[in-house]
Amino acid sequence: MLSLTKMLTGDPYFGDELRYTEGARDQRNGVSEGRGPVVVWNCTRTCNLRCAHCYSSSENRTYSHELTTEEAMDFIDQLGEFQTPVLLFSGGEPLAREDILVLAAHARKRGIRPTLSTNGTLITPELAEKIREVGVGYVGISLDGLRETNDAFRGVPGAFDRALAGIRNCRAAGQRVGLRFTINRHNLGEAGAILDLMEEEGIDRVCFYHLVYSGRGSAMVQEDLSHEETRRVMDQIIDRVEAFHRKGLKKEVLMVDNHADGVYLYLKYREKDPERAEWMLRLLRINGGNRSGIAFGNVDSEGRVHPDQFTQHHTLGNVRERSFREIWTEPADPLLWGLKDRKKLLGGRCQSCAWLDLCNGNFRARGEAVTGDFWGYDPACYLTDEECGLTGAEPGSEGFGQGSAGQRAEERPAAQAEERPAKQRAEQRPAEVER
Ligand code: SF4
Ligand code: SF4
Repeated sequence: MLSLTKMLTGDPYFGDELRYTEGARDQRNGVSEGRGPVVVWNCTRTCNLRCAHCYSSSENRTYSHELTTEEAMDFIDQLGEFQTPVLLFSGGEPLAREDILVLAAHARKRGIRPTLSTNGTLITPELAEKIREVGVGYVGISLDGLRETNDAFRGVPGAFDRALAGIRNCRAAGQRVGLRFTINRHNLGEAGAILDLMEEEGIDRVCFYHLVYSGRGSAMVQEDLSHEETRRVMDQIIDRVEAFHRKGLKKEVLMVDNHADGVYLYLKYREKDPERAEWMLRLLRINGGNRSGIAFGNVDSEGRVHPDQFTQHHTLGNVRERSFREIWTEPADPLLWGLKDRKKLLGGRCQSCAWLDLCNGNFRARGEAVTGDFWGYDPACYLTDEECGLTGAEPGSEGFGQGSAGQRAEERPAAQAEERPAKQRAEQRPAEVER
């Protein structure tokens, strides 16, 4: 997660301490010394919408075997004992769980900041009040475009208006709330309109998500932007953050799920404002790029632990059988060992990239979805070879060296065969990983 606002303006925002704490990048098991990871819990698969990009392939029905209230309380106790700073209740639709407020209150009691990732359509004025009263730190509401685009994408007419009502109800209740917008080739032209909506509605925060191909979303490989489109939308969003700042508006804009964004921003500013660029570089180094399996983890509705919510086809254990801390710090699975110190395992051009320390090889779910190799290159990296400091074609390079328009994912060549089989690389447990 890259805070463009923080990078471009230097203004302090809530949550910065999780992203930019000195020493964070050297951790193996959490956000900082003595603390566990931020955990996304898909507390239910039930959902009243049916979005095309849904990684949990949720439907409007009851799913069996989900954690009961008692089991969920025990799981939250485990996280409290591990000093987890934030528990993000996601879904499905988390508000479809009848005990959601009880569980959020329990997290707060255990010293964990509960946050909600919701489609917002169920948030009435009364519910917004209750959400604030139990101490939910933040509510992120998804909108994937303006009315027509959003409703087509979300599969339910009226979803836009109901989500907007949910946002207004949160604001009226004094509940901290913001937007979530997943960028794809269908809504690319509406990123600017979402920023306009922020201004019109007095919304203070927006997270722009890049697509991660997983679950039902794996068919979305073909819905992703070309590299050229990604660069254009980045430029557009950066310009708007600068404009907000000039106008004196306190609007927080974050980019999520593509760690090439930070490098892109730095390179853009290296010419324009070298002093600001140096400061950005320092923050990016502190953050260290992708930290799935380290400072960020996922638990699904049945208690299975995963490196992140896009990698649910790899299970590391179950909180019904072992504590979350034990699963996270004494992994039985070589894949988790690999993630904790992944640099030498990465395939493609990441190995030779000048920015590996800032990016950490980006998202494994996308790399695996396209190359079939968990450690394969992430096709959503939109930087040119030249920008990555790669001179001449490296084995495994995508050959984007001319700074030309990127290809859509399905047109991109698979990474060349690695010297060692993926499984063998995964099983090289790095000796320096903390136990
Ligand atoms: S609202 Fe969220 S959980 Fe529901 S279908 Fe859409 S992406 Fe999936
Ligand atoms: S080449 Fe790899 S390490 Fe470099 S920016 Fe792209 S994804 Fe990150």
